[in-house]
Amino acid sequence: MEGYDAIVLGAGAAGLMCAARAGQRGKRVALIDHADRVGKKILISGGGRCNFTNIHTAADRYLSANRHFAKSALARYTAQDFIDLVNAYDIAWHEKTLGQLFCDGSAKQIVEMLLEECAKGGVDVLLGAAPGAVAHADGQFTVTLGNRQLAAPACVIATGGPSIPKMGATGFAYDLARQFGLKIVEPRPALVPLTLGGEDVLFRALSGVAAPVEAGCGKTAFREAALFTHRGLSGPAILQISSYWRPGDSVRIDFLPDRGSDWLIEAKRTQPRTTIKRHLGEALPARLAETLAERIGETGELANIADRKLESVARQLAHWTFVPNGSEGFAKAEVTAGGIATTGLSSQTMEAKAMPGLYAIGEAVDVTGWLGGYNFQWAWASGVAAGEAIGAD
Ligand SMILES: Cc1cc2nc3c(=O)[nH]c(=O)nc-3n(C[C@H](O)[C@H](O)[C@H](O)COP(=O)(O)OP(=O)(O)OC[C@H]3O[C@@H](n4cnc5c(N)ncnc54)[C@H](O)[C@@H]3O)c2cc1C
Repeated sequence: MEGYDAIVLGAGAAGLMCAARAGQRGKRVALIDHADRVGKKILISGGGRCNFTNIHTAADRYLSANRHFAKSALARYTAQDFIDLVNAYDIAWHEKTLGQLFCDGSAKQIVEMLLEECAKGGVDVLLGAAPGAVAHADGQFTVTLGNRQLAAPACVIATGGPSIPKMGATGFAYDLARQFGLKIVEPRPALVPLTLGGEDVLFRALSGVAAPVEAGCGKTAFREAALFTHRGLSGPAILQISSYWRPGDSVRIDFLPDRGSDWLIEAKRTQPRTTIKRHLGEALPARLAETLAERIGETGELANIADRKLESVARQLAHWTFVPNGSEGFAKAEVTAGGIATTGLSSQTMEAKAMPGLYAIGEAVDVTGWLGGYNFQWAWASGVAAGEAIGAD
């Protein structure tokens, strides 16, 4: 039996951060991953440049059954704290848009930085073997790893969610959590493209066309680009709204979010001889303008269309309704919403209330951020919260 102070399961964003923190506090830490290298999702994130945080991080940009849960950890380890770490390693970065920070170079720099942080804490990084049974007796967790047995009074679940199984993602975290009596909020794909069927199938012909829109579902709306795909809808605005979408819900799109309700009546006055299609074409990509105009069905000159009709067309373009028939699922979801229920965890330390020594962090937990660096910031912050708490007096 090999004894440690903590066994961290999963060497992704959250596990690396947690192990480094605990190690640097003098704890003996084993960090285990079934993959043959650490931080695979970090490496592919942000198109290879890792959108590592967002300067607008706030708890209201996360979905969770308990919208207050993330507050404490996010307040104690902020975006600025991670920026300070990145700066200490001389990693160059830039803000792309909407507070999203990316490496100038490569996501590899973030993984190397986290590995160096683990090395500073003397963490044993054990790769390429899947942990087998995890048991708990007499205040010790034991983990079987091939023919080795590891034991520690603390065990951290950091194996993420089931999104992108091709990358080695599994539902291991949920099985382990259930084994120790924690509840699971039903996991669902989030930040995922939505698929269209029925009459909306016509829009698939626009595959590759993008436009800045406002996409909404219920009370939530995002103003960013939407992209038509051969299966339906994608692009940042759609990925964002997909996290709020449930099967059966409709998604509304405002194709011209900057226009007032009377813009077509205005246009009738200034350009009476133009058509809806031509006028839309001045503001939107030609193929999109054509498809929308066809669906609206008013082909004549604006001068010959009644103001009331023009008002109703403007309303239609501002509240275009799609009823997606599904999403592209876990295979394409950037994150998993739902997961280990926060009701069973301390928001200060991420420790299970009913099982001292057991912690859950990162995407495995029912906390899901918006697109744009929020998910990594949660991984860092929850990892630090647990890393600081492990074995504390
Ligand atoms: C394509 C893509 C791009 C993304 N881009 C961004 C971005 O730019 N910014 C952002 O904030 N978020 C981004 N995300 C989301 C972000 O990657 C995750 O939210 C984050 O990685 C979660 O960290 P984690 O440590 O909880 O889980 P992970 O990083 O997924 O780590 C879990 C680890 O556990 C290991 N594991 C799984 N099952 C087992 C098992 N049974 N036994 C042992 N080990 C196991 C895995 O190999 C993995 O190393 C992106 C996600 C994807 C898929």
